[in-house]
Amino acid sequence: MDKPLEPFRIKAVEPIQFPSREQREAVLHNAGFNLFNIPAEAVFIDLLTDSGTSAMSDHQWAGLMLGDESYAQCRNFFHLQETVQEVMGFPIVIPTHQGRAAEHLLFQTLVKPGDVVPNNIHFDTTRANVEFRQAVALDCAIDETFDPDKEHPFKGNMDPAKLRAAIETHGVEKIPLVMLTITNNSGGGQPVSMANVREIAGICRQHGLPLFLDAARFAENCYFIKQREPAYRDKSIAEIARELFSLADGCTMSAKKDALVNIGGFIALRDEALAGRIRNFLILMEGFPTYGGLAGRDLETMARGLREVLDERYLEYRIGQVRYLGNLLETAGIPVLKPFGGHAVYLNALPFAPHLPRAQFPGQAVAVALYREGAVRSVEIGSLMFARHKPGSEAWEFPRLELVRLAIPRRVYTTSHLDFVAETVYKIWQNRQQLRGLRLVYEPPFLRHFTARLEELDVA
Ligand SMILES: *Cc1c(COP(=O)(O)O)cnc(C)c1O
Repeated sequence: MDKPLEPFRIKAVEPIQFPSREQREAVLHNAGFNLFNIPAEAVFIDLLTDSGTSAMSDHQWAGLMLGDESYAQCRNFFHLQETVQEVMGFPIVIPTHQGRAAEHLLFQTLVKPGDVVPNNIHFDTTRANVEFRQAVALDCAIDETFDPDKEHPFKGNMDPAKLRAAIETHGVEKIPLVMLTITNNSGGGQPVSMANVREIAGICRQHGLPLFLDAARFAENCYFIKQREPAYRDKSIAEIARELFSLADGCTMSAKKDALVNIGGFIALRDEALAGRIRNFLILMEGFPTYGGLAGRDLETMARGLREVLDERYLEYRIGQVRYLGNLLETAGIPVLKPFGGHAVYLNALPFAPHLPRAQFPGQAVAVALYREGAVRSVEIGSLMFARHKPGSEAWEFPRLELVRLAIPRRVYTTSHLDFVAETVYKIWQNRQQLRGLRLVYEPPFLRHFTARLEELDVA
């Protein structure tokens, strides 16, 4: 198997523990079978998320010492602004403490009750922030996105026909903005092609609608464009990124992904009037406009990370790790979402547990089993995250896909760690008829998966 070659060596190490079988069992019960509740120290390989879990470079760590902690107009803000201007081409940057704060501020400013916000697929915090405004988060991804077996080079694309239909049905006055998530996290970390962004941007321009990119994984998306869209084969990642952002009016950014930092985010845009309105909310909720809920040192690491992530050797290794794990699993006959995306391998959970009804959360059953077997933490992206039911009603509305995501933190785990993960998944797959369904015992009003508690049902 083609092993991903690390373009770095290791300067500091962090020991990790492997808890005993009894400890793992106790941990699962105490956590209410919700892996978000498990103490991180009881996890051996943590693939819960690639968000905020990156290892920073020595250059970024050095930048921490150069934090200017002045309240207003600290020098690190200007470094960040200059970097965003160069990397993305947006003149204005508004720092926030993370991506969802950027979403919240943008939607607070633009979205009214009853509005409709199209996206390829809204990420869960994006959807929740749209719905919190009593608006509709509308998914317009191409049909191929929802078919786990379908190969498509740009499975994250938005369907232009679906966007046009939404504009026709709801009218432009009900659509305050259009979003495009690059790469499409909830659809499997799948890229969006430059051609698609250009087409969607054209429709938006024709109707006077602003287009914002959810740019959390913009560099990974640009790498796929370089690999898969022939016109971009000889362009650098930096050139591709500039062209991509030139098609949009702005972006929200979770810097915890492709800015290679542990905390941070921002909104970048061109419209000064809109920026002014956003800043008013920013001051109320996040902080002064030049720090937005972050320390000066965080702004510095973010600026440095935004440049590092454009390194093609890094991206080759990064996407190579995902491909390596995906190939190991596929070769072992395990159902995985294809093609492999940029930041994670997604197990298709339904074939693991045909004996479990969707209402018993088969995806979560797989995620629980992975922890029980190998202290590997993953995340369910299926019924537990997205299924809806009316209060008091037993009638559920299920999402089309039932996935378990193995997200790979950036620059953190080695090839041996990935081998171990593949072996753990293989053991679960071999014993899949023993997977146990789950039942909710506590359910919060939104973003259920973060704090829900469950109990295991007996094997039928
Ligand atoms: C992580 C993420 C967000 C939210 O960002 P946070 O920094 O976690 O608040 C939004 N959109 C996408 C696509 C993401 O992956």
